[in-house]
Amino acid sequence: MKSILVKGAYIVTQNEARQVLKGDMLIENGRIAAIGEVKDSADETIDAQGDIVIPGLVNAHTHVAMTVMKGMADDLPFNDFLEKSFSIDAKRTEKDIHAGARLGCLEMIRGGTTTFVDMYYSEDVIARATIESGLRGVLCWAVLDHEFTTQKGVPLKNCQRFHSSHQGNEMVIPGIGLQGVYVCSKETFLGAKELADRTGMLLHFHLSETRKEVYDHKRKHQRRPADWLQEIGFLGRNCLAAHAAWLTINEINDLARSGSSIATCPVSNMKLATGGVAPIPEMMSAGVNVAIGTDGSTTNNSLDMLGEMKTLALLQKANRWDPTIVSAQQALDFATIGGARALGLEKEIGSIEVGKRADLAIIEGRSANIWPLREQTLVAGIVYCANAGNVRSVICSGRPLMLDRRVLSLNEDDVLEESNEAMSGLLS
Ligand SMILES: [Zn+2]
Repeated sequence: MKSILVKGAYIVTQNEARQVLKGDMLIENGRIAAIGEVKDSADETIDAQGDIVIPGLVNAHTHVAMTVMKGMADDLPFNDFLEKSFSIDAKRTEKDIHAGARLGCLEMIRGGTTTFVDMYYSEDVIARATIESGLRGVLCWAVLDHEFTTQKGVPLKNCQRFHSSHQGNEMVIPGIGLQGVYVCSKETFLGAKELADRTGMLLHFHLSETRKEVYDHKRKHQRRPADWLQEIGFLGRNCLAAHAAWLTINEINDLARSGSSIATCPVSNMKLATGGVAPIPEMMSAGVNVAIGTDGSTTNNSLDMLGEMKTLALLQKANRWDPTIVSAQQALDFATIGGARALGLEKEIGSIEVGKRADLAIIEGRSANIWPLREQTLVAGIVYCANAGNVRSVICSGRPLMLDRRVLSLNEDDVLEESNEAMSGLLS
């Protein structure tokens, strides 16, 4: 693997002290070998004068293959949205899932994301697209009760098979994706937990996205969803709950005590008008680890983590009438080291430190919407000013996926063409 020297950049390290430096960075064997003034030369040099290097962003909840469905189920009441999404989803073929996943990966590369958490069936197909793109995917095979699934065979067995075939792969990390309490019984949750504890897989699940979900569950089980998950012994360190919007303080404490993480999805929640705003300030004071996800392209409709950070901060401030809530630094923490921690990968990714994987996004600082820069304004610049169009280069595990806005890992024209065809197929 080629060594790379990044010269003269502002480096937002996201290390323990949240240092912002100006200097160089040497990448060797996929890892960060040196930061500061680097005298050594490398196989490839990137001139990053005036640019900002940040850790590659972690999109902690998405359904990447749904990118070819964007715009197909917009502006509808929640139940009509679900019905429409499910009816389109039922028509999907392996070919268009692959095309959708490649398009999603392309969009994420262009937006500075290097790691994403996916939940879907057919993760074996999505794994192929992920490997081609060069991104790191934690791919969580959808698991739900037999009576609700369209999958052939038993979902948990399919997930187990997917795990066996990708075990030990560093860029495709298999996980378990429980769709939610409305389609997963106690037995399904506990079966998944048993498999996760045995294999080290992540338990990723939708939790308390809508008020209806919470009250339907309460009527059936006399417990709210997170309380119930705690009571059945499901919650633990390997849990990552998406949405986590309609929660009580008691449930937040359940999540904190168990060491669970959450992935908040502000744009999705706002677009579907589910009414719930994730209680991020309470989660932070209780010690719940927070990450950010875009959710899928029918509910966002973009996979832009820079936009997601800004929206999260603004939504939280507006909701509490308090501009001090969720600072730019905290939003960036959620999208980097918080995401890494949610995946148990905080020793490998999520910050720019010697020895860690070289997962980086280089943002063009000399852009009208970001410039001028000072070290003390950089983090605010990334969260409040930058957009995906400012991302210049992306490196994942030391491999350049995009250099100077040219995507190297995927043929962009092919990806756009095949996803266009996939959309035509779904609309016909
Ligand atoms: Zn989702």
